[in-house]
Amino acid sequence: MENNFDVDLTEQNSLKLRSVAKNYIEFTKPDELKSIRNNYFLQSIKIYVIGDGTNSIFPRKFNGLVLKHSGKKIEVINKTRETVEIKVDSGVNWENLIDFCIENQFYGLENLAGIPGSAGAAPIQNIGAYGVEISEFIDEVEFFSFPSNEIKKFSNKECAFSYRNSIFKKMRDFVISSIKLKLKLSFTPNLNHENLMKSKLLTANELVNKIRKIRSKKIPDPKCFPNVGSFYKNPIISNEKYIKIRSLNKIKKYQHGNNWKISAASLIESLGFKGSCIANVGISNNHGLVLVNRGISSFKDIHEFDNKIRRIIKETYNISLETEPSYL
Ligand SMILES: Cc1cc2nc3c(=O)[nH]c(=O)nc-3n(C[C@H](O)[C@H](O)[C@H](O)COP(=O)(O)OP(=O)(O)OC[C@H]3O[C@@H](n4cnc5c(N)ncnc54)[C@H](O)[C@@H]3O)c2cc1C
Repeated sequence: MENNFDVDLTEQNSLKLRSVAKNYIEFTKPDELKSIRNNYFLQSIKIYVIGDGTNSIFPRKFNGLVLKHSGKKIEVINKTRETVEIKVDSGVNWENLIDFCIENQFYGLENLAGIPGSAGAAPIQNIGAYGVEISEFIDEVEFFSFPSNEIKKFSNKECAFSYRNSIFKKMRDFVISSIKLKLKLSFTPNLNHENLMKSKLLTANELVNKIRKIRSKKIPDPKCFPNVGSFYKNPIISNEKYIKIRSLNKIKKYQHGNNWKISAASLIESLGFKGSCIANVGISNNHGLVLVNRGISSFKDIHEFDNKIRRIIKETYNISLETEPSYL
């Protein structure tokens, strides 16, 4: 574990924002974090934790310490006739985990195939796609707390998962070191999503391939069009509020318990933002929810564009959009 200075992180964030870390450390074991605590946290040096940078907006200069878990271990820790428990280092790439599960016939995560990022970041925003959320499979999350100098574990309940949210969104000064998942040993496809309902899929591998194919058609590839996936959460509003906002009747929506989940993409597209661009920042031509960097742009350009979209949606529909990625 060594400290590197003035490290260029432009290739470590999927928006390809030019960014440099004054101090940069990769660690493999949570025990190493104790010395980082002494040398940085207790010296009041700001610590930023990153995974694969696919859901973060990086500043031009990180003046503190950027910390990344480079551990790649996936370990089977318990197996019964029907289930298996695996412990996954937070540095494991999510797509590699999906492939590992398919190869080993561990089932449940198929609908989450194709989501970029690291395993350690997955519980933070409770990643979800095609009718499935990671919270359905998380048994435990292990993290190091800088303030208390100890490794702690949260059970699924303690993680307080909800739509694109968890307790980790509200916490500060922690590093997730691993996640424990409980998966199934027999495959039952989850086809409860409008894009999958007519599918006749016999194997988990077929479902994973199908999801990856659908995603590659819908979501611009960050390698060609730098982006962080969906930029806004779909707002959830009460039926009472929905009835009051008449202009919402032309917007796509889904029933969400007694409330409505409004399509943020549909709100943005209704105002003609799809394909728009200001100072190299714009909305993808393919997807109204994906903000893309079309050239050289900065943290500030993204922030200004984001503010503008949120302000206009608020003025038009009286709905507050919530940003999904984190501004680091
Ligand atoms: C093309 C594209 C498609 C996407 N599709 C989806 C989708 O379908 N569903 C979905 O839910 N998301 C989606 N996303 C968002 C993204 O993939 C997820 O949020 C993913 O979990 C981010 O992982 P990451 O390692 O890149 O996180 P980062 O961007 O590195 O970090 C995200 C946040 O987590 C914190 N963090 C990261 N690792 C740790 C750690 N070990 N300990 C403590 N804090 C940490 C960071 O400080 C930051 O606040 C998409 C993104 C892209 C670019």
